[in-house]
Amino acid sequence: MEKIKEILETRKCLKLILGAGNEDVKEIEKLIYIYAKAGFNMFDISAKPEVVKAAKHALKLAQVEALICVSVGLADDIHLKKAVINKQKCNNCSKCISVCPHNAIFEEDNSYIVDEKRCIGCSVCIQNCPFNAVILEHKYKAPYTMLLPMLSEGIDCVEFHCSSEKTNDIIDNFNKIKSIYDGMLSICLDRSKLGNEGIMSLLKAMISDKPDYSYIVQVDGKAMSGLDDSYSTTLPTVAFAQLIDTNNLPVYIILSGGTNSKSTKLAKECSVDVNGVALGSYARKIVKEYTYRSDFFENQNVQTAAINIAVKLREELVKYL
Ligand code: SF4
Ligand code: SF4
Repeated sequence: MEKIKEILETRKCLKLILGAGNEDVKEIEKLIYIYAKAGFNMFDISAKPEVVKAAKHALKLAQVEALICVSVGLADDIHLKKAVINKQKCNNCSKCISVCPHNAIFEEDNSYIVDEKRCIGCSVCIQNCPFNAVILEHKYKAPYTMLLPMLSEGIDCVEFHCSSEKTNDIIDNFNKIKSIYDGMLSICLDRSKLGNEGIMSLLKAMISDKPDYSYIVQVDGKAMSGLDDSYSTTLPTVAFAQLIDTNNLPVYIILSGGTNSKSTKLAKECSVDVNGVALGSYARKIVKEYTYRSDFFENQNVQTAAINIAVKLREELVKYL
């Protein structure tokens, strides 16, 4: 707990989000290797023992010490959902393959299939399917159940994805998590479902049992939307962080959801105090051409090129933290 608090208090938490639903261990190893070498200090991964092992292996290869955070979530929350293609509606147009930012859809025997291990539930395929053939489904396991096998894995933080209108459900599940895990908890939610007043009263209820600064609030501006590097993409997370900051809620604030290289600069320009930033879609995208290479761990030039891109991103972010 001291280590994570120290990073948060120095306002230099740089977190890479691998995706709560991302179970592609090969890609996870490469991404963690790149961003650990570049100086990121926290990695947010799926709550699966094999994913935690892959993350630790990557940190060992990189010879870097960094924090591991695992994500659990409610059924209503988008982060743990997966795309499913309805074969009856699918017209085999292949548009979903070309738009999926995670290369999670493939064609086999004239059928379009989602690779569940790679799908992170970002909805891009749904938004682009001309035949409404894709839906998101959640193979729901209660957060408490997801977390149990993690307790012996040596994790540093648990992130609870709880964007839902059902506040009683959120609080019940949060209390169950707290009954088995006493390390740092990160509450990740967006404000679209509850509005400003609803979010503030929920957060106050969630954090009231512990001393000030016992929790992280990860403000999810717009979940998994950070595919470009514009100010407008990152504005919703800064606006949400401002709500928490101006209400003086005694929590650590991390930006997420639409984060990119402009996020900390925009927060600074808006005088919003944050303790760090978490990047997912954007950070993964800018090194994608390297992480998809099968010779990544054998090819020093490939590694160096990817690490240089990640270093540039880190340098831009820390300038304004
Ligand atoms: S975009 Fe829709 S219709 Fe086209 S291949 Fe994908 S699922 Fe099928
Ligand atoms: S576009 Fe997003 S939701 Fe669709 S398959 Fe790819 S990762 Fe999954």
